[in-house]
Amino acid sequence: MLREFELELPGDLQETLAQLPNGTPLAGGTNLLVDMRARREKAERLIWLGNIENFRDIKIDGDHVSICGGTTVGDVLRDKRLAKAAPSLIDAARVFGGQMVRNQATIAGNVCSGSPAADTVPPLLSLDAEVHLTSAAGSRILPIDAFYTGFKKNQRAPDELVTGLSWNAPGLSSANSFYKLARRKGDAITVVGVAVTVTCEGGKCTDARIALGAVAPTVFRAKEAEAMLTGEVLTDTLIDEAARKAMSETGPIDDIRASADYRRHAVHMLTRRLVTQAWQSLAGKDAGK
Ligand SMILES: Cc1cc2nc3c(=O)[nH]c(=O)nc-3n(C[C@H](O)[C@H](O)[C@H](O)COP(=O)(O)OP(=O)(O)OC[C@H]3O[C@@H](n4cnc5c(N)ncnc54)[C@H](O)[C@@H]3O)c2cc1C
Repeated sequence: MLREFELELPGDLQETLAQLPNGTPLAGGTNLLVDMRARREKAERLIWLGNIENFRDIKIDGDHVSICGGTTVGDVLRDKRLAKAAPSLIDAARVFGGQMVRNQATIAGNVCSGSPAADTVPPLLSLDAEVHLTSAAGSRILPIDAFYTGFKKNQRAPDELVTGLSWNAPGLSSANSFYKLARRKGDAITVVGVAVTVTCEGGKCTDARIALGAVAPTVFRAKEAEAMLTGEVLTDTLIDEAARKAMSETGPIDDIRASADYRRHAVHMLTRRLVTQAWQSLAGKDAGK
């Protein structure tokens, strides 16, 4: 049963920020209320974010993309511009929960929940996104790569709200995608999530980002594997070696969904598959220049 709690309904951003130090932000509630009901979360005073003006918006200015803190997974999925501006995030949104959850769940809530299996986080890491934090005292921006400090722990201070996320859309010389491996197609917790961005210029890989979910206490980038690919012509052998390296950078657990061994194997296979697909799609374009 849900324990009693106070619910504050601030009318705008300033009021929300003023109340924040003494309460817990409530966005879609699809994590928070479930955790409170299960007694995993003991919040006693919730601050509803639903009245903040223009808090549910997606802006694209040139190649710069920004989504406001109240933007839902459904909003992302319905915005046709994001198919090019954030392919991996669209891949994640398509397999995120069911429609009712997608209409309620926010991207910022997914980022703040900090679960290693949070599906929008590998895409946001692969896009090199930034997290916008605002408190009554001012604002700051952190790379999402530096946001997580441990299992369900992040850099957000109690008086800060995540007011947005932003990134530069992948250019024509980049390919970006995400794959969620789970026991069912819908409404299932991720067993392994892999997002990659590969950039190819002059026949070589000039940049690679590999973000892995559900195989460590936080979603993280496999930087040693990325370094093996950067500056190289990607052969099947090199991609396989880098995918094995990515596997060696993980620290998965056994649980009811999969064994640690299975998760390691899946990281190897999925990283190899996604990097190969990215490279093949770019090699054709590069040759045509
Ligand atoms: C049936 C079901 C299916 C699900 N399927 C998936 C799935 O496929 N993939 C997946 O990744 N997750 C899934 N989830 C988990 C959940 O839906 C997501 O994590 C969701 O994105 C959380 O967003 P929310 O808006 O509901 O956040 P809330 O539950 O409102 O909040 C989550 C946490 O973030 C904090 N928070 C929220 N917004 C902000 C903000 N702007 N600034 C600072 N802190 C904030 C809250 O205080 C809380 O600690 C599922 C949940 C359910 C119940």
